[in-house]
Amino acid sequence: MSTRTGPQHYPGANRDHWYQDDFGGDRMEVNVVVLHTTEGRSLPDYQGGAVAPNLTAVPDFAARKLKWYQHFDIDISSRALMNKRGGVETNTLNVCQVELVGTCDPETHTKWAARDQAHIYWPKAPEWALRAVAAYLAWMNIHHDVPLRGPALWPAYPKSSGNGGGQRMSGARWNAFKGVCGHMHVPENTHGDPGAIDFEALIGFAKSAAQD
Ligand SMILES: [Zn+2]
Repeated sequence: MSTRTGPQHYPGANRDHWYQDDFGGDRMEVNVVVLHTTEGRSLPDYQGGAVAPNLTAVPDFAARKLKWYQHFDIDISSRALMNKRGGVETNTLNVCQVELVGTCDPETHTKWAARDQAHIYWPKAPEWALRAVAAYLAWMNIHHDVPLRGPALWPAYPKSSGNGGGQRMSGARWNAFKGVCGHMHVPENTHGDPGAIDFEALIGFAKSAAQD
């Protein structure tokens, strides 16, 4: 199997928080993007990189842009998924992981809003933020052949925890999956992020960006 074809650095992404030298990672040929939400309002430390994704997108509200940080090459495994002994592979199964800074939890959203703390509640993300994620997905489609499609079910958090919305893939389905999904779809995992992100709009924006 050939590995690591295509550009390994997302254009414009900051690499000051690079963890690949410390944690290595497996060589892959990515065909899946997994989306997470950080449940915080700033770039996480990721326990010094021990649970870091490939990329983090941090909102810049003044500029109405996402600032991208890259922590591992596109075709190197990162570390934000659980992987149990036996069963299927997760982090290393040709997955590029993205953490979106913000929340999918309506309670956290309400709490931050009450304190006037700027944040993205991803189920109601502003269009500029969805379009910025879509631009990344379009780049992954063009340069890494990640299909612009994904699961039908994107239940809201907290229903999405465990498999509360019936959304989580079986091992067999996961092994065969190519496209864009959330942490809440990955087997051997219980987290419910990114919840009810508007996946239809996101993929629609990504398809139009891929044609530009
Ligand atoms: Zn997650």
